[in-house]
Order: sequence, then C-alpha cells, then structure tokens
Amino acid sequence: MREQIRPPYYHETLDWKHLTAEYEPPFEFMTGARLWSPERIAEVQLARLQAAVQRASEVPFYQKLWSENGFTPSDIRSLDDLKRMPSYTIDDIRDSIERKPPMGDYQGLGLEDGAHTPLRLYTSGGTTGTPRPTIYSQWDREVGAILSARTFYMQGVRPGDAVINAWAYSTHNAAWIMDHALWQWLGAIPITTSTGNVTPTEKQIEFARLYGAASITATSDYLLHIADTARRMGLDPAKDFNFKTILSFGDTKAVEEAFGVPTYDSYAFHEVQYVAAECEAKDGLHIFEDAFIIEIVDFETGEPLPPGHKGNIVVTALYKTGTSQLRYNIQDISASYELAQCACGSWHKKLDYFQGRSDTMVKLRGVNVWPEACGKIISGHPGINGEYYCYVERVQPDGKPARDEMTIMVERVDGAGDSDRLREELAQLLKQKTGVAIGVELVERDGLRELTGHGHRAKLKRFEDRRGSIR
Ligand SMILES: [Zn+2]
Repeated sequence: MREQIRPPYYHETLDWKHLTAEYEPPFEFMTGARLWSPERIAEVQLARLQAAVQRASEVPFYQKLWSENGFTPSDIRSLDDLKRMPSYTIDDIRDSIERKPPMGDYQGLGLEDGAHTPLRLYTSGGTTGTPRPTIYSQWDREVGAILSARTFYMQGVRPGDAVINAWAYSTHNAAWIMDHALWQWLGAIPITTSTGNVTPTEKQIEFARLYGAASITATSDYLLHIADTARRMGLDPAKDFNFKTILSFGDTKAVEEAFGVPTYDSYAFHEVQYVAAECEAKDGLHIFEDAFIIEIVDFETGEPLPPGHKGNIVVTALYKTGTSQLRYNIQDISASYELAQCACGSWHKKLDYFQGRSDTMVKLRGVNVWPEACGKIISGHPGINGEYYCYVERVQPDGKPARDEMTIMVERVDGAGDSDRLREELAQLLKQKTGVAIGVELVERDGLRELTGHGHRAKLKRFEDRRGSIR
C-alpha cells in the first residue's frame, strides 16, 4: 500500500477573507472596486504589478526572456515602465514547451506541488497541435472564478437562476471556470449540457424549457443555431423560453433579436479567464482593472497604440500566482477606448469588441484584412444569411508578380434575386470598407456548414490559408 498522506483539503488551503478583500465577489464589486477612481485603480495596479513581476522572476521562461531583452524587475517603478518589459506570443510558449516538454518552462508550479496545494491543469490547442498546458493555483482559480461571476452578475444572472452552460466541458478551461463561477460565487445552478456534440441542440432546448433556465452561456454562433433549431421545432425563441439574460461571446444584436432578451458580450481567454465584460450601457467591455493591465499594440512594431487604433491585445494578469502572463501578446484584435466614466458609473477602462485574430490577418496590397472584419461588413446584406468563410490564396496572373487574394464565401438566401448583381453588390461593399478588392463566392443555404462546423463546433472555423502553392 502507498504511504498515508493528508490531502491539502480545499477549504483549508486558502485565506478566504484575504481573497475576497483583494478581489471582491460580484455583489460587493458592484458598489466597491467597480466604482474606484482612476487614481485608486492606478495605485492598486502598480503594487500588484510589482508583486507579479517579482513572482515571475522566479520562473525560467521569464528569466530567459527578460535577460535576453535587458529587462530587470526593478525597472518597474511606474505603470508607464510596463512597456519596457518585452512582450511574447504563442510562438514563445511553443518554444518553451519544446525546450522542456511537456509543461514548458513557463509554469510557476509543477504537478507535484499538488500534494500541498490544490491545482488544476487545462490545455489549449490540444485538438490541433501540441497541447499548451496551464497550471492554475487555487488562488488563480478562485480569482478567475470571481471575475467570471462578476461578469455574469453585471449581465443580469442572479442567485437561484438555472444557467445552461453550452461550452465544451473538455481539456479547455472555458466551461469549467464558468461552472465554478456560477456554482461557487453566484448561487446559480449550472446545467452542464456542454456543446451540441455532447447534448444535441434539440435536447439543450428541452432542458432550457424543462427547468425554466434563466440564462444560457454560449458563443453567438451557437446561440443563433439554437434559435434556428427552436423555430424548426415549432417554438418561438422569444416566447417559449424563460431566459432573462443571455451570456454571449461575439455579436449580440442578432441573438437579442432572436430571443427578445438582453444579450451581453465579454472577453476572456484560456490562460487568464475573464478579462473584460460588457455592462448595461452596452458600449464596449470594461476591463477588470484590479486584475489586469491591457495594452493595444501595433501589429508589426509591437509599440503601444493610443485609444481608437486597432492592434493586438497584450495582457498582463496582475493576480496570477501559478502560471504568470505578463505582457502576453494574445494576437486578438481590438482597440482601447478613451478614458471616461461610463454611464454605469464605472471608471474601469473599456476595450472594443473582439475584432478577429491577427494570426489570420492577411496583407493584401499593403492593407491588413481579416476574415471577421469581412464577415461583419457584409453581415447586414438582405441577400445573404450572415454565414461566411474566407480563404486566401496566392495567384499569379500572366506576366505579373504573384500576389495574395482573399475570397469570402457566403450563403445566399431564397429570393435573393440575380446572383451576378448580388455578388457585385457585396464586392463593392467590401472594397468600400476595406479599400481592397475581395472576391465573393455564393453558395446555397447551409452550403458552408461542412467548412465552418456550424452546429457542431463551439467556435466556428472562418479561415483557410491556401497559399501553399501558386495557382
Ligand atoms: Zn459601464
């Protein structure tokens, strides 16, 4: 028999009073940190940043990155000094895993530490390549769950609400942190349907009706699919559910129209959990500034950009103790807002809605174009249903140098009229808004399902790089 070891019991290993004083749970947050002045926010951020940099200075990944770039923790004397710290991307994480498989040298804790403190391990990228693991300390899990619970509370979820969680309960963090937040920090009851692959959409609809679910959390794409399926089942999405609010990811307008209830967007990712959430003012996403510093940087130079300019999101998590993320360039495209007090009373800085991934960004004749931007431009056109799929290829017309061309495939609706005219209208719209010519290819309704994974995948595939060979 193996030796006797007393486990690190979950309720004993954390100072809960300290946790909730540092990072207020939703109810306290509404009248507390949410209303902090910009000066108070900056003061807390600097202290937390300096502590976070100290913690990371123990981690080989940061030791290497910082020494190669001549940065030392003592360089951070003000918030403005943050830009002296080198940023990094997913490529650096991949290199780190290659250097020290399978965990990389960027983790602040190892699995063996689980013997004295509760740990969780989640991975991103597991379906398409080498999994990128993140080890979360108990503190990191609880703060992440508190931030998630703040999001849901701000967006109308209340204790006693049953909430359908239609995110994938898998090796990825998303569904789990939402579950944790709803259960431990909100008094809500998660109904753990997971995605359409686990619980077919018809069943999700039955569950929502049977238990009178007050909310549902899913991507906008999947929510629209649910509305569509409900209609096919003879239901009216606006009348036959008990939803009070919808927790979406992505464009909310169409979802709001379909279900007839307020629908909110937010921004989160695997390693750091909820970063920013839309408030009732519905004008941008408030960053949880007691837990994060967010910068928007130029796609090419990496230099911080002023408000209103599109660039990559660079995240500095101030609260992490297990695996740190300091100036992580996540390559999501957004822009920051001018600092102002929001109609909701909060001074927490705002981030623009997610605009796409810069790793699918294509430079066409000097202009940056990406699939989500193209999808948005044509989305309101009455001749199509909003589904889209982009591909880029390298073409070489006779006697001319090779160049990249992007084509957007869209689903034509019944009664859309003349195809040539529709194609021409869409092409003109794209040219007008992006400044470059983009090809348009029409397919019939549901013709893109196989390509995008509509109805099956939580996050739809919107892009394919076919530049492997010259056509
Ligand atoms: Zn607000």
